[in-house]
Amino acid sequence: MDRSGPGRHAPQDSEPGAHAPQVDDIRTRALAEVAAAGDARTLDEIRVRFLGRRGDLTGLLKSVGKLPADERPAAGADINAAKRAVELAIDRRGAELSQEQLARALEEEALDVTLPGRRQGVGSLHPVTQTLRRIEEIFVGAGYEVVTGPEIEDDYHNFEALNLPANHPARAMWDTFYLEDGHVLRTHTSPVQVRVMERMGPPIRIICPGRVYRRDSDLTHTPMFHQVEGLVVDEGIGFTDLKGTVVGFVQRFYDRETEVRFRPSYFPFTEPSAEVDAQCVHCGGAGCRVCGYTGWLEVMGCGMVHPNVLSMSGIDPERYTGFAFGFGADRLAMLYYGVDDLRLLFENDQRFLQQFA
Ligand SMILES: [Zn+2]
Repeated sequence: MDRSGPGRHAPQDSEPGAHAPQVDDIRTRALAEVAAAGDARTLDEIRVRFLGRRGDLTGLLKSVGKLPADERPAAGADINAAKRAVELAIDRRGAELSQEQLARALEEEALDVTLPGRRQGVGSLHPVTQTLRRIEEIFVGAGYEVVTGPEIEDDYHNFEALNLPANHPARAMWDTFYLEDGHVLRTHTSPVQVRVMERMGPPIRIICPGRVYRRDSDLTHTPMFHQVEGLVVDEGIGFTDLKGTVVGFVQRFYDRETEVRFRPSYFPFTEPSAEVDAQCVHCGGAGCRVCGYTGWLEVMGCGMVHPNVLSMSGIDPERYTGFAFGFGADRLAMLYYGVDDLRLLFENDQRFLQQFA
């Protein structure tokens, strides 16, 4: 080494070589930029700009060859020292940045284990389901069997076998949903009774709960509702049996002594037929909003099974008689709970449903 001046082996920031002003300048800029870098991408970009193949320090290193021979070693050493310093600074800043990122992520994702947890809402049985179960319980207790059937029915089982041949004017009693292939969404659960009569002979003692469909929608009607129908067929069944069954059911359902009255009515599949009213459970017959100030609530339709219906299902009407009844379980739930809009039962508003939990 014939280069004059002291300390070329000492730390280069205190001992500048021939290129020193330029090297120092570049190094200072680079270190300032590194210190200010806010993310890894910026750091990469700085690395390329200063240390890359076309970088400032690399360029300076290439120009060393143009220096006088005696200045080259010191200049090279200075530049390499600057390169190392910048590299080191970039590595440190990179490590710092990833630490910061980690700390930030930990903070953002931190769980405060002392916070109370979010409670899961506990479900409960729908009021209609509760009502259906109570109804089934009452009838099963009286020796009835619970039977279900298809909701998509053929015309024969929904109408014809129930004494409703095509073009029978009483078909207009049901606003029916027809499917493209001629099937219908059953308008009542009566087809289940027909299927049972076809399949098994008397004695029959069944109830058929299930969904039924009619084109109807207002305060007391929904296009889908739940019906329960009952059928008893045996030798010697009379209207008194029907009356006793219906009155017994209504009183057990409302869990009290309730006046029940029968009004003559018409259904194509029963003869004679009757509508059943129960004394209003809310006002005890005095008259209120729920009963429309009549003191009575209409609860079901019923009658003695029409001989045509029995014979069409292969049962001898000379030997056997029977009675049938049917009612809307949703309507019974409404009356029981004092709900004044049937649609509330099907809107699935938890605030409403929770009241029945
Ligand atoms: Zn009333």
